[in-house]
Amino acid sequence: MSEIAERFIEIRESLPDDVRLVAATKSRSVDEIKEVIEAGADYIGENYTHPEATKKFEKLGEIRKEVNWEMIGHLQKNDINKALPIFDRIQTVESVSKAKHVDKRVEKAGKSMVPVLIEVNSGREENKYGIEPTESALERIVRGIGQLDHLRLEGLMTMGPYRGDPEDARPYFSVTRELFEAGQDYVEGDGGMEVLSMGMTNSYRVAVEEGANMVRVGTGIFGPR
Ligand SMILES: *Cc1c(COP(=O)(O)O)cnc(C)c1O
Repeated sequence: MSEIAERFIEIRESLPDDVRLVAATKSRSVDEIKEVIEAGADYIGENYTHPEATKKFEKLGEIRKEVNWEMIGHLQKNDINKALPIFDRIQTVESVSKAKHVDKRVEKAGKSMVPVLIEVNSGREENKYGIEPTESALERIVRGIGQLDHLRLEGLMTMGPYRGDPEDARPYFSVTRELFEAGQDYVEGDGGMEVLSMGMTNSYRVAVEEGANMVRVGTGIFGPR
């Protein structure tokens, strides 16, 4: 078994069954992605739509259909048309206006509905995207997405700090979980708060303790970049 497969399986088995494991594949090769899919990965997370994800998607061929493609990087407006045919879910909607831009392009991409998560800037960090971690900001965007015909809101995503002591990330994860619980009240129609995507290699254990049901792991599976 390859090291990638071994590490993937070890992490998968360490997680509760109801926690989804996304293999974060930015800067990883097509062969590395194949290895993790063959090891049983169900979710692949990519950061850069074009050219990275479009090229990988093409080169992977049929095997790409075995997994769910998650957009976990910042979605540039210019990339929306290219992102829609590839990704099964967009985790990084950070404003009502971005949501509208996506919504307008869904049908052209041959789809009728795109699942999305709202990105929360839980640490109020200047260099990160996402809504302010407040109920009023959340209410505004949840109601905004609720007006759109082609987006289905499925939950929240947050990054939190990249490195350092994983315990330092705990308050960011807990504030995001509180919003996740509160957000259900603002949902109109179908969709709702089902997916809570938080935690990376150094912090996924803390994230799960704080209620994450989806974690995104790159280095821990593929090794250092
Ligand atoms: C890179 C990345 C990850 C994975 O980070 P690692 O530290 O390599 O596990 C998770 N989420 C997002 C949004 C990322 O960009």
